[in-house]
Formats: sequence, C-alpha cells, structure tokens
Amino acid sequence: MKPLIITPTLLRNLVTCERRGWLDTYGDSTQQVDITPVGALYGVAHEKVIQTVASPYADTMDVASWDEGVNLTQDLMNERAAVIIGAYIEQRYELENGTEVSLRGRVDRLTRNPESHLYEPVEIKQYINIAKGDELQLNFYLTILQHMQDAKLRGYFWLGSDAQNHPRYVLQHVLNPAHLQLMLRRAYAVLNQADAPPVNLVAHCKTCSWYSACTEVARSNLDLSLLPRLNSQTRRNLERGGITSLQQLAALSIEELQRFKGIKKTAASHRANARAFVEDRPVWVDQMPDILHQGGWMFDLETAALPGGDGSPWSLGWCDEEGKSQIAIVAPTQQHQRVTLNPIGELITVRDYDEAWHVFHESVGVDEKPIYHWSGFDAGVMRATAPTPVKNALLGRMHDLHSTFVNTVRLPVRSYSIKKVAAYFGFSWSGYEEWWAAETDYRKWLISGEVQHITQACQYQRDDVLALAVVWKWLIENHHLNGDVE
Ligand code: SF4
Repeated sequence: MKPLIITPTLLRNLVTCERRGWLDTYGDSTQQVDITPVGALYGVAHEKVIQTVASPYADTMDVASWDEGVNLTQDLMNERAAVIIGAYIEQRYELENGTEVSLRGRVDRLTRNPESHLYEPVEIKQYINIAKGDELQLNFYLTILQHMQDAKLRGYFWLGSDAQNHPRYVLQHVLNPAHLQLMLRRAYAVLNQADAPPVNLVAHCKTCSWYSACTEVARSNLDLSLLPRLNSQTRRNLERGGITSLQQLAALSIEELQRFKGIKKTAASHRANARAFVEDRPVWVDQMPDILHQGGWMFDLETAALPGGDGSPWSLGWCDEEGKSQIAIVAPTQQHQRVTLNPIGELITVRDYDEAWHVFHESVGVDEKPIYHWSGFDAGVMRATAPTPVKNALLGRMHDLHSTFVNTVRLPVRSYSIKKVAAYFGFSWSGYEEWWAAETDYRKWLISGEVQHITQACQYQRDDVLALAVVWKWLIENHHLNGDVE
C-alpha cells in the first residue's frame, strides 16, 4: 500500500480547516474550483523578482511529472549545482506510531553551503513577519533535507525586499521538530477518518477551492453557517440554545431570536435569510425604493490592482436599461478612437482616466437618471479619481444597488456579490468571472495589441454591467410580490 502523502500545504490547510485537508487528500477533484487569492498573486510576483535578481542566469528545465522533478533535483544535487530554484524534494518518514508517510514539497530555493557542501532550504516571503505556518513549512523542508543528506542543517527566510530587490532581511532558522511532529500526528488522525469532517463555512472559505462543494453540503443540511454575517460566537450561542439549523431559526419570532446574545438589530435580517434558504425563494424585507422606477444607467469600473498597478481605473463600463453598453479603456499610447467590438458594444480608447471619466460623463449626461453600481467601491473611486466637473455632475446620481438590494430582499445565497446575485437570476458571465484575469488580458493587450485580449477584458467588463441590469430589472418586475414585508 502506498504511504499517505503529506505536503506543507496540506498541513497549513489542516490548521485552518480539517475538512479542507481531508478533501485535498480524498475529495472528488472535479468538485474543486480554482481560486486565486490576490495575496498569492502578489507573493508569486515578489518571489519571481527576488529569484531573478539573486540568480539572473538560471537555466530553466521542463518537468513533466512529480517523480521527474524529484529525480532532476537529485541529479542537480549530485552535480553540485550552486542553487536549485523550485526544488522537488520527497522523503519517507516514520511517525511515532510506526506508520510510514511520504513528506513532499517544493522549496523556493536550495542553496549549496560552500563550507559544508550541504543543501539548505530558503523560503521567500513578501512580508517580514513570519507566522507559525511559515515556520512549519521550513521545519518540514529541513526534516526532509536532513534525512536526505543525513546531517543537521539550517534553513533561511528571505523576507521583504529592498530598493534593489534583494531580500530586506535574511533570517536563519533551526529545525523545531516538536511542532512538525504535532502537526503530522494531527494530519494522520484526520486523514484516517472514513468521512470528511463537517462543513463549517467561515470568512476564509471564500478562498478555498472546495467552497462551492461545501456550500452545497451546507445547503442540503440547512446549516447555520450559510447565514451571511452570522459570526462564530453568535452561532455558538444559538447552538447552545438548541438552534442548530436554519429551519429552527426561521421558525423563531424576532423577539425569541433577540434573546440570544449577539442578536439584537440583526434578528429580522437573520430570520429573512434563514427563510430564504428554508423556502428556497426570495424573501422581501422592505418596499423597493421608488427611485428604481426611473430606470437609469448600470455602471462598473476596473482598477489596476495586480502587482505593479497603481490602483487607478483602467476601464469604465456602462449600459442602459436595455443592455446597450459602452466601455472606455485607458491606453496611454493609442489614439482616442471609437470602435464597435462585436458583440460587446462600443469601445472607446482614451489616453488617461481623466478622459475616460469625461467620456462617461458625456454619455450618461444626456439625462438625469440614476447611475446604478454595486457596493460603495465605484462611487469611492469616482470620488478619488474623477475630475471635479464630472464629480459635481454625477456623484449625486450614483445609486448603490447592492445596498438597496440587501435592504429590500434576501435570497438563498451566502454572498451578495454581484456575481452570486446575478447568477441566482440565471445570468452567467460569457467568459471568465475574475477581475484579475481581465486586468491580465488588458496588460497583454497594451503590450501586444492583440484584439483577442482586449475583447476578453471588455467582455468581462460588459458582463459586469449587464449583471446589474438583470438585477435591477428583476427588482422592477417582482417588487409587487413583497407580501413578506412585516
Ligand atoms: S470551504 Fe471552508 S469548510 Fe469547506 S473545506 Fe474549505 S475551508 Fe473547509
């Protein structure tokens, strides 16, 4: 029988959620959804820069499989390579109970000590305050490398960066076996369970690749953790009082709910959310504001948020009630021009975001209707970056449809992001749904000029504004059904 494979990622995931560690090992991988946390993008970009400066002439080698990577790393060590970037290391390891597991991982750098000729691990971090999980990771690599080389070693953290992109601090690290052994015992205990540990949806679940699968499980159990904004302490208070499912919570009166510590003003909101899940339908909590009857413009923008970006807008997108869309894209080296990008709509290239705001103003300035956007972000960016005449003309017309929506109706969903709400009404993004993918395409287009890249970025921007139109329209067409309002 093959030994259990244990990686530093698995151990880190177990610390945050045992279920995640279990699913990473035994779960149906077709249920996983790729998630790219923004922090990881920054971490990858940081490591790349630091590695390039530290080893500017490194050769790149293709590796087709894990085993090939391990063999190649071993060959390079035998050949006494000075540095091995992204080394593949693996070692059988006997736990205290005699069970053999396989420890495997990829080290940022293996450097050959010129005196001892031993290979020592280096972990590169963008931040300068290392956490327990970082130490665990380096302990993990040290354990493997000490076994491989049959010698005591030191590891290193390269933390932050200076103006020349060298590490700001180099921190020496000596193996602390106790923490690693504790975590390996814990991993072994969890991975020997026949069933996955129970679902417990919390804030960090949004960055987990099992989020969608776990939400479905929670949905079928009518789990309390489905409730948006129910914190863990309040949830525990409910459970102690015997309320363990949304069905039970939905059956309580507002007064009964308010007897639980942590629930006062939020009682009606929690109850409406619970009812939405239990009855699997929208539940109305207030009258829809009349202003929505005026129709209006749907608006969304993208800002440069990837590593190297300065946070300023690179795209403004808007459409009318019928979904006729326009997009202003900042392209500093291109002519101001208007082209029709089928099937997306009109694309206007502008020199800078000032010009983008003016183009937007010119278009929506033909009437005085509300300009709908989702959350305070877009209005905040307008306040921070739009020219004063544009702000004076448009800020008063900005209407946060997200705020109106959650104050008016609740859905059987855990998140009220535009992606989730529009999806509930059957809308789907025609390409990707990730802002960073659009910004990546935009950056590629700036460099290459390839239409395919700007088309994909604009498709994303256009879908964001069409999604707003779908939600606005649903409110207009359904608000008369608000018989739930108490
Ligand atoms: S979504 Fe949450 S509960 Fe599910 S595995 Fe991931 S972290 Fe654990």
